[in-house]
Parts: sequence; C-alpha cells; structure tokens
Amino acid sequence: MTVSDTLVPYPEAIERYEPVIGLETHVELGTRTKMFCGCTTTFGAEPNSQTCPVCLGLPGSLPVVNRMAIEYTIRIGLALNCTIAEWCRFARKNYFYPDMPKNFQISQYDEPLCTDGYLDVEVNGRTVRVGIERVHLEEDTGKSLHVGGATGRIHGAEYSLVDYNRAGIPLVEIVTRPVTGTGADAPVAARLYVTELRDLLRSLGVSDVRMEEGSLRCDVNTSLAPRGASQWGTRTETKNVNSLRSVERAVHFEIERQAAVLDAGGRVIQETRHFHEDTGTTTSGRSKEEAQDYRYFPEPDLVPVAPPRDWVEQIRASLPEAPARVRARLRAEWNVSAVEMDAIVNAGALELVRQTVAAGASPADARKWWLGELSRRAHDTGTELAALPITSAQVARISELAAAGTLNDRLARDVIDAVLAGEGTPDEVVEARGLAVVSDDSALAAAVDEAIAANPEVTAKIRDGKVAAAGVLVGAVRKATGGKADAARVRELILQRLT
Ligand SMILES: [Zn+2]
Repeated sequence: MTVSDTLVPYPEAIERYEPVIGLETHVELGTRTKMFCGCTTTFGAEPNSQTCPVCLGLPGSLPVVNRMAIEYTIRIGLALNCTIAEWCRFARKNYFYPDMPKNFQISQYDEPLCTDGYLDVEVNGRTVRVGIERVHLEEDTGKSLHVGGATGRIHGAEYSLVDYNRAGIPLVEIVTRPVTGTGADAPVAARLYVTELRDLLRSLGVSDVRMEEGSLRCDVNTSLAPRGASQWGTRTETKNVNSLRSVERAVHFEIERQAAVLDAGGRVIQETRHFHEDTGTTTSGRSKEEAQDYRYFPEPDLVPVAPPRDWVEQIRASLPEAPARVRARLRAEWNVSAVEMDAIVNAGALELVRQTVAAGASPADARKWWLGELSRRAHDTGTELAALPITSAQVARISELAAAGTLNDRLARDVIDAVLAGEGTPDEVVEARGLAVVSDDSALAAAVDEAIAANPEVTAKIRDGKVAAAGVLVGAVRKATGGKADAARVRELILQRLT
C-alpha cells in the first residue's frame, strides 16, 4: 500500500487541517444551435449527424458568434452579480485531442465576458458567500467512445470512435475563487454551491442542467493546510464529477487522502484526479498543464464582443426571481421553519414539493411523502429524488387518496412501490391490486365477528369496560383483511357489538 492509498478518518483530518475548495463548473447552454455555426444541438442524435465544416474544423470555414449564447452568458453573469465586460475577445486554446477537430478550442482567456461576482449559499444555517472569479464562454468538444475494453476508458480499448455532435455546443465555464473557512462543512458546502448554481441556471432558462447527461459538469479543487498555517496547501483537481452527491464525496475523500499524505511528511502533488462513483475514491490522472502550455492568443477569425450597455440593462431587467428569494417566499407560504426548509432543499426536493403542492397536495403532505418514503427509496436505490420514476402529480394523487381515507399509510406505501415498479398510475394500481381501505361495514362485519369469537378473554375485558383492549381486536381484523381495513371504523364496530 502506498501513502496515497491510506486515509485519515475525516474528524481527525479536519481537526488538524483546514480545507480550501474551489469549483469549476461547465454548463452547456440550451441554445437551439451551436456556438459558431448553425448546427442543431439535440441531445442523443445519431452520431455525427449534427456537424458541418465549421464545427468539424475543415479548412476555409469561418466561425460566427451565436448572439443567443452571448445573451445567455450575460444572464448568468448578471445573476451571479458579475461585472459584464464592455469589450472582450475570444482566444484560441491550442491542444491536440481526437475529440477536438480543429486542434484548438475557441475559448476566453484573459478577457472573459463576466468577472467578479458571488453566489450566496446557505450551509447548515449560515451564509457562505462564494466568490465568482469569472464566467466565460467557449465551445464544447466532441465525445470519444472507447470500445472493447472492460472499463470504457482508453486503456485496454480495441478501438475508439468519435462523435462530433457535441463539438461546438456553447459551453459556459463558471470559476469560483477559493472558498475558505468552511472547515468540516467543506464537502457539504461544495455540494450546496453546485446545487444552488444548478437551481439558479435552471431558473434562468439557459440550460437544462442535467448532470447525468453532461450538460452540467463539475471539477472540484481541494487543498489542505495545517490549521493556523499562513499559506494554502497544494490543490488537486478532481474532474467531471457527475452528480451532486459525488461532489460532496469527492471533497470528503480528497480531505482524508491528502491528510494522510501530509501526516506521513509527504507532499500533495498538483494534478488532475478522477472520481470513481462505485468506490467513492479518486485516482491520479495527468499532471496539470500550465496555462502557457496552451499558447493562448486572440482568435483572429472573430471580431471582439462589445455588448451595448442598454442591452445588458434590458437583460438585467428580465431576470427572474432568484431561487433564494423563491425559497424565502415558499417558506412563508408553506409555514415551515428554516430547518425544515433546509431539509427540503438538502434532499433536492424543493421543486418536487412545489409541484406536488401545485398539483393539489397540502404542503405538509407533500413534504412528508418526498422527505420520508420517497427519500428512503431514492437512498436505497442510490438515485436522486428527482430521478425516481414517479411524478409530482402522482404523489399528489396518493396524498389525496390518503387524506380521503381511501388509503392508509401502509397501503399508500404499497401504491408508491407499485408506481415505482412501473405498474401504472396510483388509481390504476389501487384498482388492479384492490388496495383501497375497506370501510364498508358489510365487508368488515364478518372479520369483526371472527376476531371477537377468536379472542374470548379480550372480549370479556372490553365488556368489563376496559375499552383499550379493543386494539388487539382491531389488529386482528386488520391482519385478516391484509391491512386494508379502516382502523377507526373497525374500532367503532367492535365497541358497538361489545358495549
Ligand atoms: Zn456545425
């Protein structure tokens, strides 16, 4: 076992070291066409069907800037409290990779469109202001598919295929300043920052922000310094972490790993690392290139971008209410405490609860189902709440059936299971499985009589006035009816017969 394989338990690592995190987030913009050509951007299309001479980098082709992509980037910059450049240029970032047909990427280097902003993130009851260093616009690369190996990585593959559909899709990179002072909360703060950013981007309508489809991708920088040290430690950059949960796990793991390296008197190497979803660990990738390796220079085929001030102000005036303000408003409407609201947000359930309430459920019920039963299912299957195959409208319907007494909690859970298993809508499941609560007296009478006959001692007690003993008979009736009997009605029937 090498030093880099050993870990220091998290509480010990945090006791001795202060983590600093930084996040670089890539967002594919939801424009209809690509950044510098008219190709469409539909996800999942036939490979290489959305390409043209410009995005394939053929000689003689010339790029033209997509106005909508500039507008979307300004929207993002304004929502992140950035300064919008009055004049800026694109730059060529030179490197060779098979998914880069031009052998360079058009990006922005020393003249980004948006600079110097911030995003406030609520972390365990306090506000962490995450500084935004820059928001810049570039083009996405194509995708390589490595075929024939066990891992899907290039090592061990028999051959590779390249799909250029993604090449040239507008990509915004949002770079934070180093985030200090979060201590033990650093992994959670990283996750909540990406969550807040995702919600903000979604509210702006600039991207579908689907981490699982790669339209939101995150690189997480982590470094450790001994507590009280005046200098930050060397950082590592964990690439392409593909879910919110993984953002938190990646930081957590790097803190435990780097603490072990430092404890052993070693040096953390500045490098790119890969996160592995299955083990929650990171492994060494390549050593990090320096900016000079890319030989940046201003892109000679494009004119500078100089967004008119009145246009910028128009965009500012059209920004929607920020998610943080929406939350404050919903908190009041739903009458929930700050802690309860945090629980909803941390579970990734805010939008789901909102839609469920909009579909007719009470806020308390919507919260109960999403944070209780459905959170458990998501956790058990290792998926995010929003990815569960049940809609907010279906949850609202189950909640309505439960409120009306048609379903008790146990039956409601059965219905949820069946909906998740793809058996249909809640009403279809109730119908097909005969799951509704039985409160019809004639249907219950036989079971009540049987329970009374089978439990003479209990029956005697109830006749003596000890009505609390009725619970035993109610339990027997519910068992006999497969849990479908309406408990309150059963109790009434028992007491009618015996008292
Ligand atoms: Zn094209």
